[in-house]
Amino acid sequence: MNKRMHIEVRGCVQGVGFRPTVYRHAVEAGLSGFVLNALSGVVIEVEGPPARVRRFLDRLREAPPPQARIDALEAREVPPTGAAGPFVISRSERSGDVAAGMPPDLATCDDCRRELFDPADRRAGYAFINCTNCGPRFTIIRSLPYDRPRTSMAGFPMCRACEAEYTDPLDRRFDAQPNACAACGPRLTLRDAHGDELTGHPIAETARLLEQGETVALKGLGGFHLACRADDSRAVERLRRDKARPHKALAVMFASIEQVRRHCRTSPETEALLQTPAHPIVILPRRPDSTLSSLISPDTDDVGVFLPYTPLHLLLLAEISPLVMTSANRAEEPIISDFAELSPDILGRVAHFALDHDRPIVRRCDDSVVRFAAGAPLPIRRSRGYVPAPVRLPVAGGSVLACGGELKNTFCVTRGGDAFLSQHVGDLTEWAACRFYESAVRDLVGLLGVQPTVVAHDLHPDYLSTRFARKARLAPLFGVQHHHAHIAACLAENGRQGPAIGVALDGTGYGPDGTVWGGEFLEASLTSYRRAARFEWLRLPGGDAAVKHPVRIALSLLVTVFGPDEGARLAAELLPGLAAKDRGILLQVLRIPQRSPNTSSAGRLFDAVSSLLGLCDTITYEGQAAIRLQTAAERAGIRPDPAPVEVDAGSEVAVVSFAPFVRRVVRERRAGTDRREIAALFHATVAGAVVHTCSMLRERTGLEEVALSGGVFQNSLLTAWTIEALAAAGFRIWRHRHVPPNDAGVCYGQAAVAVANHGSNH
Ligand code: ZN
Ligand code: ZN
Ligand code: FE
Repeated sequence: MNKRMHIEVRGCVQGVGFRPTVYRHAVEAGLSGFVLNALSGVVIEVEGPPARVRRFLDRLREAPPPQARIDALEAREVPPTGAAGPFVISRSERSGDVAAGMPPDLATCDDCRRELFDPADRRAGYAFINCTNCGPRFTIIRSLPYDRPRTSMAGFPMCRACEAEYTDPLDRRFDAQPNACAACGPRLTLRDAHGDELTGHPIAETARLLEQGETVALKGLGGFHLACRADDSRAVERLRRDKARPHKALAVMFASIEQVRRHCRTSPETEALLQTPAHPIVILPRRPDSTLSSLISPDTDDVGVFLPYTPLHLLLLAEISPLVMTSANRAEEPIISDFAELSPDILGRVAHFALDHDRPIVRRCDDSVVRFAAGAPLPIRRSRGYVPAPVRLPVAGGSVLACGGELKNTFCVTRGGDAFLSQHVGDLTEWAACRFYESAVRDLVGLLGVQPTVVAHDLHPDYLSTRFARKARLAPLFGVQHHHAHIAACLAENGRQGPAIGVALDGTGYGPDGTVWGGEFLEASLTSYRRAARFEWLRLPGGDAAVKHPVRIALSLLVTVFGPDEGARLAAELLPGLAAKDRGILLQVLRIPQRSPNTSSAGRLFDAVSSLLGLCDTITYEGQAAIRLQTAAERAGIRPDPAPVEVDAGSEVAVVSFAPFVRRVVRERRAGTDRREIAALFHATVAGAVVHTCSMLRERTGLEEVALSGGVFQNSLLTAWTIEALAAAGFRIWRHRHVPPNDAGVCYGQAAVAVANHGSNH
């Protein structure tokens, strides 16, 4: 007596070799039936003797394809049809659904890597080798369903050998949409600054140019990189000068994990993360004896490293490694994805050669960046390799478009309980980023096939994302306060709805009272929040312009704590980077409230302290002063007891003042204390202030859960010390693991708040 089962599998199950795996298991078990891609997953029917059907189900659960992610597998018995015949893969019903049909780009798998370096293989040395388990996806798909004619591989008709693999269910390239070989697929071209093709083997020639210290633009998966030798300070210095990027850290690609170990301290967790299919950049401590140029990350002892994730990278790094690999773009603009965009700002100025290829990049996608803090991954940028896989929401409802913030912008679109976060867009202060933003929003909304019922946005009226929300008129608007969004993001990714104490230590966020917020303690749930406490105000002399000059904020901090006269004297003594003339002007400006807005920003406090210690007077990139402060604290190698804070709990919003710490800094500096120790003391003091304030709020509210978010928590030392101190005080702590704590996570929080508030309507 035969048994027939109808099985539905949901999750990331399309474009990852799921149906061929099902096919193999069914054929091995000798069953009849079919498998097909349906709207939201894979549908299977199998028929045969009960024992074999059971074995098939066990195999499916035990041995799914490596890149698949099964969220749900439902099997129910249906009446046998009696139809014999072989098991078939039905190709009739393809999915147009992004959740199932569009996986992220996948790093080259081990099988393809072996073939790539096997001289006997027909694809030996072929820079576009891929299979059902690896290769480009998100960056080549023009529209869904995911099928070759709707990808940027459409212009490459398969040769007979490739076609045979593509149509054979037992081949590991069955239905691999980007399948190609040297006879039929994309090709590399090495070009000079005029765009003319150079002779010789493109990879060997590129390696030769790099060896000589040249910078070469390399077309990769989601855009162009600028590459140069990472162990040649002259090459790195020139890249920095020509790209006008004097200090911000550059990522380094290594040929192998063994080579990474020689230059950086790794752990089993960081090594595993480096080798996941996403192949993110992982920030690791550099070994003191590393031969990497010290110019790679002059502000820290860390270096962002990653492994080759395309065959092109594998072939090149096999010739020359390690290489600096930084996105080819102008400042915080989107990554460049087409050769024509390179000139003349990049090609001919930064790089004089470009390793180009003829497979178009449909979607720009920058590399992802992850660091480790308190023993767990802390995303800094969630982009290539992760996008467009959704992040779950603990609430479900109508579709929300959440427009995100301004710097490091990402946006997201929700459907049901899934939030689809965009790739890294960039700073929406740059014209090119704004253009990319608008097209990327339309792209993602279109791919998901949803009509947003709510458009969530930041309260800042001048953010371009807010203006876009107003202008686009896609749906009713819903404003979400910036730090509520940060905390909601942290709660939601942990499956929590609150209420909890939310600690948002951040740079800048618009407060509904018109001041700039950024050192905030909220009593927050997904639906609402109350500002329970904040950091003491600091004046920003001259407004936002002060952000580029931490020394001006340091002056403001001294004036806040010591008053204008004593503050000015101390500034003359402790801030040599501030000219007497500028000091005089700034003291005037500080007297005019309209020209010196108040901010409770934690980021500005870090800036001020960094400058007070002589670490950074003017920044060349966002976060630089805080990064130098963290580096100094780490180099101290000590963990001091926190300095006390003053808390004024008399008003509705309690105020946390670091004045006792600032007074101590002045004493310690006069006593000649090592500034690294003062930097460590500051980190301990901020962690202590968080615990102190949370304890006070726990007494008042009974809340025992604390969610940590905001860009300041990119600081792994602060994150670790804060988590440890909160845990010791008995709090239950939620921190980020999937979504960045910086403004790239704001869209997800906006979406969580909007869905939580509108969920009942749908
Ligand atoms: Zn592969
Ligand atoms: Zn071929
Ligand atoms: Fe923020």
